[in-house]
Amino acid sequence: MSAASEKIRISEIFGPTIQGEGMLIGQPTVFVRTGGCDYRCSWCDTLHAVDSEYRHNWLAMEVETIWGQVRHLSGDVPLTVSLSGGNPAIQPLGSLIRRGKRDGYRFAIETQGSVARDWFAELDFLVLSPKPPSSCMETDWDVLADCLRAATGSPAGGPRIGLKFVVFDDADYAFAKDAAARFPDLPVYLQPGNHTPPPPDDDDARIDLDGIMDRMLWLVDKVTDDRWFSATVLPQLHVLLWGNKRGV
Ligand code: SF4
Repeated sequence: MSAASEKIRISEIFGPTIQGEGMLIGQPTVFVRTGGCDYRCSWCDTLHAVDSEYRHNWLAMEVETIWGQVRHLSGDVPLTVSLSGGNPAIQPLGSLIRRGKRDGYRFAIETQGSVARDWFAELDFLVLSPKPPSSCMETDWDVLADCLRAATGSPAGGPRIGLKFVVFDDADYAFAKDAAARFPDLPVYLQPGNHTPPPPDDDDARIDLDGIMDRMLWLVDKVTDDRWFSATVLPQLHVLLWGNKRGV
């Protein structure tokens, strides 16, 4: 099968909305959420794009079909397309990125950094989000370094890259500091986590607002007490606005 005819497993395509986190927070975007993930984080808030129990809702789609939906949703006005998941890095997204760029769109991806892809170099933004101890997952730092090498191997310069961490407690914070020390050239975004992910079909998605605000204030104190002035502390804006509702 040629790269152009490879199908991509899609969980949902939605927008335009705004990016709720990381280096593009607040910016208008259309989300292309792929289905499937090589992780099972304890607090995952997108199980409908992770757990095989929901795979009957995922579609294997051609690039042109996906691209038609993105163009329709964005009214043919170029914007940044957010490739999300699940882990979008386990899908063959290179031809979709090249297709969209021909129309003047930009591409951002968020991935935990467990799979490196050559096409990372064709992105505009790469957000690596290693999962801290509270996720019960383990990061392979060599693979994360491979992701960086893949992204920066382009003569065109490659994407803007950042590290993003969801932080629940001291162990998560220490993990983020350790990661930042391993990759000192990368900007770091820290975000308090939400402890109450609802079931994926819950339309009335609620959040632990008091807990989020407490952790946000705690995180600000940690960063300022530590004189970690290169870090950026952000809320997960989409969680504050919509909880864990799908498709916004
Ligand atoms: S890496 Fe992301 S999508 Fe995959 S299980 Fe963890 S939080 Fe969920």
